[in-house]
Amino acid sequence: MKYGLVLCLCLPLSSLAMNRSWEEVTLPSDGESNSIGSYANGCLAGGAELAPAGTGYQVIRTQRNRYYGHADMIDYLTSLAIRVDALGIGRILVGDIAMPRGGRFASGHASHQTGLDADIWLRLPATPLSVEQLSTPKPYSVVDLNSYRLEKEKWTESHALLIQTAAVDERVARIFVHPLIKQQLCDTAWKDNSWLRKVRPWWGHYSHFHVRLHCPEGDSQCVAQSPPPKGDGCGAELASWKPNPYIAPKPAKAVVKLADKPKKKPAKPKYQECVALLNQ
Ligand SMILES: [Zn+2]
Repeated sequence: MKYGLVLCLCLPLSSLAMNRSWEEVTLPSDGESNSIGSYANGCLAGGAELAPAGTGYQVIRTQRNRYYGHADMIDYLTSLAIRVDALGIGRILVGDIAMPRGGRFASGHASHQTGLDADIWLRLPATPLSVEQLSTPKPYSVVDLNSYRLEKEKWTESHALLIQTAAVDERVARIFVHPLIKQQLCDTAWKDNSWLRKVRPWWGHYSHFHVRLHCPEGDSQCVAQSPPPKGDGCGAELASWKPNPYIAPKPAKAVVKLADKPKKKPAKPKYQECVALLNQ
């Protein structure tokens, strides 16, 4: 009996073969959106497409085919763009969301696998970018990586407002920004700064920020991340990100390049549903 049970558990594992890479999948699967697995090892069924442009936003680098997301994410992004448009602070540029069925990118970040992560640029153009500008957009960095300081002449109130507007939405679990951007937001006077808890420091993220949504209700296989520590995260934890002057810091640019290097072997999907989605 015991032996039989072991066999039953082993059989599905033999089917964990990947016949193609996630990049080769050009269309989402049918049905309602369903995020499966974790942000950094999962996939997306029923991916929804973000239109290349709409009120208050444009999608950059559509040639990457990373403008699919969970329907909740698409709704979040379009409603954020409408709010930003109403604030009159420019239009948002949406970068990577996810591939048509999610999964791991062959290059770049490890998350963005379940359609619940999206990158939003800090560049807030007043007028729409041209097709050419959208395909090879110029990043707008607000951090001087060599001197490790926020470029105050490039950081504006609009950036603070944009991140606040993005963070207050209840669907948002976390937002990743460079530690110096988090510090700047901590140093800004807010009537209510409870949303700062969701804004988390992470290397990179000096010309864009990364929004991560909670697992949507009903997506039973979506693996949530534990909530950020209590409080605004402006104290000792943030200070710990500051490069130690006695330890030579790794050159930030090199770190970014390393992160962008194509991975030799992408991690195998952990979930059978994801393998099925990939091979469908
Ligand atoms: Zn990202």
